[in-house]
This record gives sequence, C-alpha cells and structure tokens, in this order.
Amino acid sequence: MRSNFAGICGYCEQDCASLVTVIEHFRPRSLFPDEWIAWDNLIYACQRCDFQKEEKWPGPPGNYDESYSYVSPNLVLGKQPAEAFFQYYLGFVEDAEVAGNSDSLVPGQMVPSSNLSPGNWWRAYRTIEDLDLNSDSNGNASGDERLPYIRNVYLETLIAEIESDFGDLYSNIDDARYLLQELSQPDQPFSSYVAAFARSLGLQVR
Ligand SMILES: [Zn+2]
Repeated sequence: MRSNFAGICGYCEQDCASLVTVIEHFRPRSLFPDEWIAWDNLIYACQRCDFQKEEKWPGPPGNYDESYSYVSPNLVLGKQPAEAFFQYYLGFVEDAEVAGNSDSLVPGQMVPSSNLSPGNWWRAYRTIEDLDLNSDSNGNASGDERLPYIRNVYLETLIAEIESDFGDLYSNIDDARYLLQELSQPDQPFSSYVAAFARSLGLQVR
C-alpha cells in the first residue's frame, strides 16, 4: 500500500517518512461494512489525518451517492481527480485563481475550486473542513503546526533551492520547468500546492 501512495499521505500530502501512518478507510467501516477491504476504499494516511477523519462521513450510512461524499484521494477511472476539487491561495498579488476573498486567506490555504458545481463545491468544502486540511488534528493549532504554514515553508524552501541553482525563477523559467514538473507529481510532498505554484508561472504540469 505504501508504494501506491509513495509514502505521501493521501489527504494532507505530507511526506510520511517520519510520521506514524495507517491504512485509512475512506468510507468508514462502521457505515459501509462491505467496503472494509475494497481496494479503492483504502487510503495511505498519516496519523493526523486518520485521527481527524475517524468515522466521519458527510452522508447517510451505506449511501454511495457522490453528492453526499468526501473527495476521494484515490484516482478512479472516469472520475475527476481529487486535485480538480481544490485550489490554493499562494499569497501573491497575481494569484488570480482565488482572488476576491483573499483578505481572510493565508498563503498555503486550501479552498474549493471556483469552477465546481454547487454539489461538488460542498463536497470539497466538507473535505477541507472535516479533515481539517487548513490546520492540524486538534483544530486549534497556530504557527508552525498549521498545514498552510507547513505547505508554504516547503514551497518557499523549494523556490530558494531552485533559485540558488538557476538564478531568478521568473527569468530562468525554462531551466526550472522540468524540476517543477517533477516536483508536481503525486509522489512528491505537497505536490498539489507545488502544481498550483507552477501553473501560476504559466507552466503546464501533470
Ligand atoms: Zn495526512
């Protein structure tokens, strides 16, 4: 299972190398007893996300209607990938993706994508809220425990490393392109956030 998620938590995208990990049931066993061993129901997750999710489910027990579901990190053929449901506030002035309500956002914060149907927007919103993807497991952390902060430190460190290798990112974008593509792949930590950053530079990634 670990190889399938490449050591990255399916929910928060942290590198789990130094974290306690579990195999989490996306649809909780208590509400979906037939699903306890279904392959696409198993998520490689860090303990933080497992504690946070527990037996939570936004819909009626045993109901497979997607309108009353969370967004699954598992890729399912023919379905929108999880990352299509979310976008990030990057903290830049030119971050048009989530402009408009940026006053209350901090860099690294996840929000539902702006182009979703109302039903899918609700699913994305519930996923962020119930899994506490903008904070930590107890929901009242601040500073360096907050996931947006951790995401942003990771990205800033990455940018600093790229710039020390290639020089200014904006004027050497062709040199940095392949590295950013590689670091936007799902087997990398915080890859959705890095992908959002790469797209803000006009790079097609994934
Ligand atoms: Zn996690």
